[in-house]
Amino acid sequence: MLIDKLRSTIRDIPDFPQPGIVFKDITPILKDPELCNAIVEEFASQLDGIAIDVVAGIESRGFLFGLMLASRLGLPFVPIRKQGKLPYQTIAEGYKLEYGQAIIEVHADAFEKGDKVLIHDDLLATGGTVVAASKLVERTGAQVAGFSFLISLDFLHAKSRLRRFSEDIITLINY
Ligand code: AMP
Repeated sequence: MLIDKLRSTIRDIPDFPQPGIVFKDITPILKDPELCNAIVEEFASQLDGIAIDVVAGIESRGFLFGLMLASRLGLPFVPIRKQGKLPYQTIAEGYKLEYGQAIIEVHADAFEKGDKVLIHDDLLATGGTVVAASKLVERTGAQVAGFSFLISLDFLHAKSRLRRFSEDIITLINY
């Protein structure tokens, strides 16, 4: 079963990048092309019935399955990147990290007004990153159609922060 295979393939790295964090390393998944395709098929099946115009992936691990999923669905892909990486005119949104502040950006012309945007990332932790991404989407006049993540750290209770943007939150593995 896909979920069992994912559980056994994702590698836990204790105390990375700092003490107390158990980092969920998805790089072993990327070495298994059949597993990658099965993940994309599972996302596509769970997204069936949700209207989506664009898939937006969050730097950097959100690009991996975000682009595959967009391609599978026949939809455009938009990268949401860390500050200073996108070359054209951008809009930016800041958010708090445990220590300090982070800023993400999207190209100002990335979405059309009214576009229904699926926001994708590899992992949902506190939700700070995707809340900022959702605000970016809404500031362009587009709307959040839903969220997809390979992994959710449910013990951090981030899903409740996302529901004001969309009730459609797809997570393949929940810890
Ligand atoms: P957050 O904004 O707290 O939801 O953090 C989500 C972002 O941080 C995602 O882009 C994840 O890739 C990364 N991240 C946070 N915690 C972990 C973790 N335990 N293992 C792997 N990536 C993580």
